[in-house]
Amino acid sequence: MTTSARTKFSPDELTQISLGFEGQRPEEMLRWAFDAFGSGVGIAASFGGASGAVIMDMALKLKPDVTIFYLDTDFLFPETYAYIDAFTKRYGVTPVAYKSRLTPEQQAARHGPALWQRDPDKCCDLRKVEPNARALAGLSAWATGIRRDQSGARGGVNLVEWNKKFGLVKLNPVAAWTKKEVWAYIFEHKVPYNLLLDQGYKSIGCTHCTRAVGANEDERAGRWSGTDKTECGLHT
Ligand code: SF4
Repeated sequence: MTTSARTKFSPDELTQISLGFEGQRPEEMLRWAFDAFGSGVGIAASFGGASGAVIMDMALKLKPDVTIFYLDTDFLFPETYAYIDAFTKRYGVTPVAYKSRLTPEQQAARHGPALWQRDPDKCCDLRKVEPNARALAGLSAWATGIRRDQSGARGGVNLVEWNKKFGLVKLNPVAAWTKKEVWAYIFEHKVPYNLLLDQGYKSIGCTHCTRAVGANEDERAGRWSGTDKTECGLHT
C-alpha cells in the first residue's frame, strides 16, 4: 500500500485503507501507521489478553520508541502487575499508566461501596473510559488488540477505522487473526504474556469483574459474567 506523511484521513478513506489491509500481515498496517502518523501512534495495552502481547511485540520491533500505555484501574490482578514488570524487563520499555482521578476509597465515598456490582458502566467510565480519553489526547491513532473471533460483539470490527468516540484513528492490526495464530506468534517469538492465561482465564481485566472460563466459552465470557455487560466502553 502506498504510504504518505499524511496525518488526516476521512472515514471513507480509512474504510478503503482497511479493506486494503485485509489478508496482509498486521506488521504492514503498523508500518503504514508509523509512516503516516509517526509518534502520534499509541499502543493501548491491557496486559490481560494474548493479542495485546503480540501487538506490542510487533510495534516495538518496528518502532522501539513507540508509546505504550495502559489503564491501571487499581483493581488489576497481581499476575497482571507481574506481567507488566516482566514486559518492562524484556523490552526495556516502561509503559505509561493512566489511572482514575478517584482512588478506590474516594470512589467508594462518592459513589458508594462496590460500584462495579451496582453500576459497572459508571465504574468503567471512572476507571477506564475517562483515563483512556486522557491517554489518547494528542495522539492521531491508537492500536488495540481486539479480534473478530473474541466475541459476537467484535465480529464486525474493521482493521482501520475512524474512532468517533475518542476522535482519532483506531487500528486493530490483529482483528482478522484467530486465537491460534496469536498463540503461534507468542510461542514463535517467545513473547511474555499474563500467566493467568495458563490458568483458565482467556481475557483479563479487573479482579472484581473477571473469572476463568470453560474450554467452550467465548474468550470474553468471563468478563462481567452474569450481567448483560460485555464491553467496558472503550470499544463501543
Ligand atoms: S471492569 Fe469492573 S472493576 Fe474494572 S472498572 Fe469496570 S466495573 Fe470497575
